[in-house]
Amino acid sequence: MAKIGFIGVGNMGGPMARNLLKAGHEVKAFDLSADLVGQVVAAGGAAAASATAAASDVDAVVTMLPAGKHVKAVYTGEKGILAAARPGTLFIDSSTIDVKTAREVIGAAEAKGMLMVDAPVSGGVAGAENAGLTFMVGGSDTAFGKARLLLEAMGKKIVHAGGAGNGQVAKICNNMVLGISMIAVSEAFVMAEKLGLPAQAMFDIVSSSSGSCWALVNHCPVPGPVPTSAANRDYMPGFAADLMLKDLRLSQEAARTAGVQTPLGAEATALFAEYAEGGTGGSDYSGIIRMIRAMAG
Ligand code: NAD
Repeated sequence: MAKIGFIGVGNMGGPMARNLLKAGHEVKAFDLSADLVGQVVAAGGAAAASATAAASDVDAVVTMLPAGKHVKAVYTGEKGILAAARPGTLFIDSSTIDVKTAREVIGAAEAKGMLMVDAPVSGGVAGAENAGLTFMVGGSDTAFGKARLLLEAMGKKIVHAGGAGNGQVAKICNNMVLGISMIAVSEAFVMAEKLGLPAQAMFDIVSSSSGSCWALVNHCPVPGPVPTSAANRDYMPGFAADLMLKDLRLSQEAARTAGVQTPLGAEATALFAEYAEGGTGGSDYSGIIRMIRAMAG
């Protein structure tokens, strides 16, 4: 069993750290919120006084932080964890961040004799709680081989996407598809409403026809057809619109870097910005149907 430092134990990191404990690993947790660290301690973990303390004298460190700037600061900043860890420590960054920062930080880790992968996730808070996450992993074969054992305690599907940063590439490509498809599904439901086709009939037909997609059958944006979707609880997340917007912006940043045109991705980003920044960023991303309905008049 491994000794693990866990930095960032929020909505996702907290349950992930608890699943490592359940699998028999030792976990030292650090977060800017002492309350959140307390929840890991209550589940059998230890509290670290700082990020560097969490990364000292451990076999592996998992980070689950909001964005690239937090990851960069925690790893390579003045009191960065790369300087505090012993050589050979394995680092797993599961935050969703920009590809460029992911590649830079992994480069810095390898230059210090560490092993590191980017391993963003899909599956949301429910997946984090029931150890059902999908991990998309970028990094060397050696780092992936070592990381896999730990990732299996937190997820169901572990995919090696290639070299450093490729996990992030997979994640933002996936979420660009999800954002675009939720808008397409929402437009179709609004059009059906206006033309007198009941939502249940629309769902029954499209979900078994060529227009079916993951957003429709799992996160149906109208109440009724999919009882577990956020539409049935007044769009309580779920997957917050703010996070969808963050991922779409990362997709557009990556598209610019790669010199690729993604017109639908760009439009989805603009529509989610309008929705999330209109005061509804904390609601589920499927709630964008309300804005599309309002636009339809
Ligand atoms: P969160 O805000 O609940 O958790 C992030 C935690 O990081 C917070 O507790 C915060 O205090 C802590 N933190 C920030 N800076 C820190 C620092 N310097 N040192 C220590 N701790 C620090 O966010 P979350 O929902 O857990 O998401 C984490 C990451 O996972 C994000 O990149 C997000 O995009 C991604 N993600 C989230 C979901 C989801 O459904 N919530 C799904 C997939 C991926």
